[in-house]
Amino acid sequence: MVDLIGQYKKIQPEIDKAIHDVVVSSAYINGPDVKHFAKELEDYLEVKHVIPCANGTDALQIAMMALNFKPGDEIITASFTYVATAEVIALLQLKPVLVDVDPDTFTIDCDALERAITSRTVAIVPVHLFGQCANMQRVMEIANAHNLYVIEDTAQAIGAEYTMSNGTTMKAGTIGTIGTTSFFPSKNLGCMGDGGAIFTQNDELAMRIRMIANHGQSVQYHHDEIGVNSRLDTMQAAILRVKLQHLDEYCASRLHVADYYDKAFANNPKLKTPSRENGSTHVFHQYTLVLNGVSRTALREFLDSKGIPSMIYYPIPLHMQKAYMDPRYKKGDFPVTEALCDHVISLPMHTEMNNEDLAYITSSVLEFVNR
Ligand SMILES: *Cc1c(COP(=O)(O)O)cnc(C)c1O
Repeated sequence: MVDLIGQYKKIQPEIDKAIHDVVVSSAYINGPDVKHFAKELEDYLEVKHVIPCANGTDALQIAMMALNFKPGDEIITASFTYVATAEVIALLQLKPVLVDVDPDTFTIDCDALERAITSRTVAIVPVHLFGQCANMQRVMEIANAHNLYVIEDTAQAIGAEYTMSNGTTMKAGTIGTIGTTSFFPSKNLGCMGDGGAIFTQNDELAMRIRMIANHGQSVQYHHDEIGVNSRLDTMQAAILRVKLQHLDEYCASRLHVADYYDKAFANNPKLKTPSRENGSTHVFHQYTLVLNGVSRTALREFLDSKGIPSMIYYPIPLHMQKAYMDPRYKKGDFPVTEALCDHVISLPMHTEMNNEDLAYITSSVLEFVNR
């Protein structure tokens, strides 16, 4: 699905030097690269504060801790997402309230979102799934009308841009109260281990986030509240400084792959290509088709026999997961999510694909679906 070695080989001298410099400096924890990377990402995203942390799940958790929610407060998020989003809500004794997604963009359905708001609702977590922003125009209007915080889960969409109806364009993760991301190796900006970051324009929140990520202290050995230990390793920061310089080029490579797939699959009634119809650019963390009248299992077996990997993101909706079963929800409550879980398939998508790979993949998919 990804080619991390191929990507590394192209920038090997820069990466090797970055790693070596950290090794000989021995500044393994909170070394200068961590600050430099945060500053460079602030400039890239045009956001006031980037606070690096240990992974994207921690980023979500710390964001929610910083907003002082009380047990039982309700946080609305999409039912079609990676588990981390709901996991941290539940872990903090908050109440995840799930809503269905839009069948075309796979992001939160804003009409359903509006209907899910109660007097206990404190925040919305839109997930910019597969590399495209949720409808942030509507999300922000709803949040402002109901006085809710917005935490954007940007783990899959770093680098995407969203244009509001007034013409302002902002980077994914810098529109709401707080944005969070992950630098997991296969993400669009991936390191060589675990990593994550939190973004905010708000000075006071940034201070709280830094304190919570650092054992609840702003002065060493003075713990003002219960925090966590969540740091980005210096080595990962040094690697990310190199890779950030290539992020736009990586986005362009992904877009080329998506354009190729789109063209090859256009107008095929059995394949629905991913929609790009909202105010967002798409950075294609995943290229996900919706199958219509094609056996997904048989297609995957066929592709596998030709040496083509494929994945299902995500096979089971959150409300059907054992750990998240809740008497409030039953099968049938989120029909779009449930249908997507049964019919989506993600094809290989990465920065190192050439037209020969793409011709082989697309002709194989078409060979199967057209027979
Ligand atoms: C990857 C991912 C996360 C979690 O990131 P980790 O760094 O693996 O903890 C959270 N949300 C979404 C949507 C993701 O894709």
